[in-house]
Amino acid sequence: MLDKNTNVLITGPMLPHVMDQLDHAFTAHRPWEAADRDAFIRDIGPSIRGIATGGGHTQIDGAFLDRLPNLEIVANFGVGYDNIDAAEAARRGVMVTHTPDVLSDEVADLTIGLLLATLRQIPQADRYLRAGKWTERPFALSPTLRNRKIGIMGLGRIGKAIANRLVPFGVEISYFGRTRKADVDFRFYSDLVAMAAAVDVLVVVTPGGVETTHLVNAEVLAALGPEGVLINVARGSVVDEQSLIRALADKTILGAGLDVYEHEPEVPAELIAMEHVVLLPHIGSASAETRRAMGQLVVDNLITWFSGKGPLTPVRETPWPR
Ligand code: NAP
Repeated sequence: MLDKNTNVLITGPMLPHVMDQLDHAFTAHRPWEAADRDAFIRDIGPSIRGIATGGGHTQIDGAFLDRLPNLEIVANFGVGYDNIDAAEAARRGVMVTHTPDVLSDEVADLTIGLLLATLRQIPQADRYLRAGKWTERPFALSPTLRNRKIGIMGLGRIGKAIANRLVPFGVEISYFGRTRKADVDFRFYSDLVAMAAAVDVLVVVTPGGVETTHLVNAEVLAALGPEGVLINVARGSVVDEQSLIRALADKTILGAGLDVYEHEPEVPAELIAMEHVVLLPHIGSASAETRRAMGQLVVDNLITWFSGKGPLTPVRETPWPR
């Protein structure tokens, strides 16, 4: 049975329909409205049993968990949860949930858009027209998706949705990951440099976090080569941003399409100044409909948990049933 007296911490502003439902079902606390956020969390911490959080809010690590000794569940808004130390939560018996599947198609759609925008220079062409330059001369010829070989780094839920969309484009597809997938015919590489050397588009869609930090480094970019294009919709941390800037500046690779950055929302001035990159402000899942579905899953995970029915979508580190 749900108990309205259950204290839930919302770590930062969330969609109105999420906060309204949390207010309705629980006693929801908003530390960002307090004069002193840290003092607020210190005072309220021992009473908190659930957290609703999102990537940009708060790093939920051991030090943060120390302040919430009666915490049972952290419900994350987003499929990626590198903002949460899930292994540490597991060690303490705290459940962690995320929002898989409901966003996969949306992110895959955006990735195809970003890939085409980068290769065919769609934003540059738009800027060209608006600047009145078309009347002077036609826009320069662009690179193409035709005859390209695409390497997907991380053939998970979103990676597969991207691959399935790319099949009708008639491009060759391969993938890199820790394990070969039995349910696909695409070529598997266990070595990222080898795959980068064999393809001319690298699409990055692994989780972030310590295991994948800077996996895309100078060596991978050099292997991708002068016709190579990098598309990153994963996490900024997966790509060594300084090596990427150098590779773009010295034409080690042809171009890049980026949705994510190492220090969001800061984007290096060098990238902003470059005409051969397309830059998006982390909008992979950011349609109203998909964000609504993600928010609903955050609420539903908390409601089923505090109704005694367990979580709906636990992360790998905190499986259910235990
Ligand atoms: P998923 O189903 O767990 O897939 C992740 C893939 O990455 C798997 O194929 C996994 O394959 C591979 N992988 C994991 N760790 C790896 C490692 N250390 N080295 C190499 N490959 C590794 O996750 P998903 O739902 O597709 O989401 C993927 C990521 O996309 C999320 O974690 C998030 O960071 C990002 N994302 C971004 C946006 C955006 O707005 N731009 C939106 C949603 C998600 P193996 O296990 O075989 O290695």
